[in-house]
Amino acid sequence: MTRRSALVVGAGIGGLSAAIALANSGWTVRVLERRARSVATGAGLTLAANAMRALGELGVAAAVRKVGTPFTLGALRRADGRVLMDADASMPQGVAVRRSDLHDVLQDAVPPGSVTWSASVDAFETTPEGVSVRLGDGRTIEGELLVVADGLRSRLRRRMYGSEPLRYAGSTVWRALVPFDVGSLSSETWGCGRRFGIVPLRDGWAYVFAVEVTPSGGRDAEGGRRALIKRFAGWHDPIAELIHAADDDAVMRDDLYDRPPLRTPWGQGRVTMLGDAAHPTTPNLGQGAAQAMESAVMLGRVLQERPDDVVLALRRYEAMRAPRTAMITRTSARFGWLAQRSSPVACALRDALLQRTPSPWRERQLAAILGYDVTTDRIRP
Ligand SMILES: Cc1cc2nc3c(=O)[nH]c(=O)nc-3n(C[C@H](O)[C@H](O)[C@H](O)COP(=O)(O)OP(=O)(O)OC[C@H]3O[C@@H](n4cnc5c(N)ncnc54)[C@H](O)[C@@H]3O)c2cc1C
Repeated sequence: MTRRSALVVGAGIGGLSAAIALANSGWTVRVLERRARSVATGAGLTLAANAMRALGELGVAAAVRKVGTPFTLGALRRADGRVLMDADASMPQGVAVRRSDLHDVLQDAVPPGSVTWSASVDAFETTPEGVSVRLGDGRTIEGELLVVADGLRSRLRRRMYGSEPLRYAGSTVWRALVPFDVGSLSSETWGCGRRFGIVPLRDGWAYVFAVEVTPSGGRDAEGGRRALIKRFAGWHDPIAELIHAADDDAVMRDDLYDRPPLRTPWGQGRVTMLGDAAHPTTPNLGQGAAQAMESAVMLGRVLQERPDDVVLALRRYEAMRAPRTAMITRTSARFGWLAQRSSPVACALRDALLQRTPSPWRERQLAAILGYDVTTDRIRP
């Protein structure tokens, strides 16, 4: 049987996951990536239980576990260290990884030679039989279907839907990997207009992130580490020590954006979208990459179920993924709104509310996100 050919634009977490799912479903995949080689930026990443389930379906969960560290959601604290919400031992474990390690695992799992580097896709054209993409150097490449996974600022999405401004989340994030052993519990600390997160990594390292309510486009003239030392002075241990342990050059600063959920269809004919190109979300729930992985699994599944009607399969994939990804984007934005309260009165009210939130309610909210099984499209009991 001749294998059918699929094109994927972007070799990020979404594009590589899609390539693995398509290859597992019998497609020959060509991934077109504008970068000259693989460079994963962004320090660390938490892979929640639903992400690990999707990675299991892609056949790479064991390899990810090998390079990652199991972690459980730790306590939510106030800046003075007082606990707002206890660690929840009943929640399923996730795995924390360095982004570069996750990229290596995903790249190793796509068939050798599938990724073409330095291939910037400028445009595409669809025909009843297939899709043709045009690269920046003038080359054209053809396939039977196209998965657009070129990230938050997707050029190809713009070509389909016109210019839609990104939605600024109102806050900026600083991220770093630090040589510091924090045990096995992740934790988050909420102050007024600021928060700090700690995630354990293997070999005595930690991934830390700090978020502040601030206008977009700011800079740290004095360097990221010094900026954080000032901002988090007086916060509970070991936050100051962690910041001091960071290498100044290793602190990354980014403004946070998402987009309102897109109505279906997410594509045209034999073209669809996946990952941040289709469903960008704020990182408040640590679910952006998880959603890209779930979408990849679903895409592979529907194409296997409807091999003779690619267009119908792509529309089915979009219809299956749209409600869940929209729910995640909205919940994440709401969570960010709560976390980023910056007036003392609003923070006091928020903290009082959090301390009184009954655990069964919290567990139900988390279960809807972490308990999802993409293979059955259901929440696990
Ligand atoms: C601060 C922060 C923390 C996060 N933490 C988590 C977390 O803990 N857990 C989690 O699940 N998610 C997290 N996320 C979300 C996650 O990082 C993203 O959802 C995920 O990386 C998106 O992957 P992607 O492949 O869709 O997009 P990208 O990673 O942006 O990849 C797009 C790729 O397409 C390429 N490209 C772009 N344009 C073209 C073109 N024209 N031609 C060819 N190639 C092109 C780019 O070079 C890039 O390689 C976080 C996000 C942020 C900002």
